[in-house]
Amino acid sequence: MNARAQATASQPHVASYYVASSLPQPDQPVLQGELIADVCVVGGGFSGLNTALELAERGLNVVLLEANRIGWGASGRNGGQLIRGVGHGLDQFANVIGADGVRQMKLMGLEAVEIVRRRVEKFQIPCDLTWGYCDLANKPSDLEGFAEDAEELRGLGYRYETRLLQANEMHTVVGSNRYVGGLIDMGSGHLHPLNLALGEAAAAQQLGVKLFEQSAVTHIDYGPKVRVHTAQGSVRAKTLVLGCNAYLNNLNPQLSGKVLPAGSYIIATEPLSEEQAHSLLPQNMAVCDQRVALDYYRLSADRRLLFGGACHYSGRDPKDIGAYMRPKMLEVFPQLASAKIDYQWGGMIGIGANRLPQIGRLAEQPNVYYAQAYSGHGVNATHLAGKLLAEAISGQHSGGFDLFAKVPHITFPGGKHLRSPLLALGMLWHRLKELV
Ligand SMILES: Cc1cc2nc3c(=O)[nH]c(=O)nc-3n(C[C@H](O)[C@H](O)[C@H](O)COP(=O)(O)OP(=O)(O)OC[C@H]3O[C@@H](n4cnc5c(N)ncnc54)[C@H](O)[C@@H]3O)c2cc1C
Repeated sequence: MNARAQATASQPHVASYYVASSLPQPDQPVLQGELIADVCVVGGGFSGLNTALELAERGLNVVLLEANRIGWGASGRNGGQLIRGVGHGLDQFANVIGADGVRQMKLMGLEAVEIVRRRVEKFQIPCDLTWGYCDLANKPSDLEGFAEDAEELRGLGYRYETRLLQANEMHTVVGSNRYVGGLIDMGSGHLHPLNLALGEAAAAQQLGVKLFEQSAVTHIDYGPKVRVHTAQGSVRAKTLVLGCNAYLNNLNPQLSGKVLPAGSYIIATEPLSEEQAHSLLPQNMAVCDQRVALDYYRLSADRRLLFGGACHYSGRDPKDIGAYMRPKMLEVFPQLASAKIDYQWGGMIGIGANRLPQIGRLAEQPNVYYAQAYSGHGVNATHLAGKLLAEAISGQHSGGFDLFAKVPHITFPGGKHLRSPLLALGMLWHRLKELV
């Protein structure tokens, strides 16, 4: 399917491994007639679900509207890698939020994973959460960067094991000769993302959140109270949260202008034998390499290799995702030449110019909040965003929200049609730099 498909056209889930192996997914009703709520949340991915859940925990009355199904977007399609940290190169923001603000953000990047850990424990969500992650170095300078990361984590009081690996130790983590080193992090890991989203939706519902599917928001009347319209109904609310990320399209052009949608793709092999799976990833860790269009992969609970990568800005998916991704997998693991590919799918990542998640509220409509642009690293950051938005909306002092909201984010020039070619050029430049 075309991953750029408009979210306003209601669609079933993409036929991914996650859908095939998900918990039973109850149908939620289509919004009909008028409802009144404290907060209306748009988007049934991690951003929307977690904001709704956190608001309900604080006693607010919440309606959540999803254009397709819960977890239909990136949240139900991603690599399932739960990795510490938010953004990239946070020190660049010191001139806006100060050195202490940067440190607070780095700590929040660690807290983001803890929010997922606690949520899974509290609501007993069966999402195959497994601890252990390794950054993979493609070149010696990556390894130098890892040493700095490990040092920084120590300085932040990180309480999980981290360990640098040299080239000759890499076989303990990954059965490939491609890498010159690694950084193990036992406080990051991997999970079944669609099941996490479904578990969070069920938890939110238990707390009183009203969920609606196949209920695309078509337009919004802004004002001291917002009125949010779908084809068959509307919601009046004091506060609105937009959590549509790369699928926001024209619902709010001001926000979508700050996000570049980019396609990323995953293949899932047939289940591998225990021995074969162990030879690929002996410690069952999730791993990512360091290139701009990175490879990310892990084993599923039923021992398939889920291999993801690429980054397409053209708006066009490869015609055959399996044929496109398989050679990338075989470059890493030639030993999988005879493994069958059972599933292939893609989804849209929302990229921001400075790669910091955009969490804030609109200057002209202060009762409209948003969270977006996780730049491919959102499983943890969406959970942090939900907490920060709920704190701010419920009037709890949220130093964290203020820090994120202070950082400015540029609108990509050229509007919707030029945004992607511009990013493609930018990424080509970074890829050329990787070659030197
Ligand atoms: C292939 C892929 C692999 C990835 N791998 C990883 C990974 O391993 N680790 C990691 O940390 N991150 C990863 N990411 C990124 C991560 O998945 C996202 O950052 C995160 O899921 C974003 O969540 P979200 O809720 O903001 O957006 P989404 O999950 O995309 O949800 C947005 C929702 O809004 C709905 N919507 C849009 N318009 C409307 C409307 N008008 N009315 C109502 N609803 C609307 C959409 O239907 C959609 O369900 C990956 C992303 C992709 C695509």
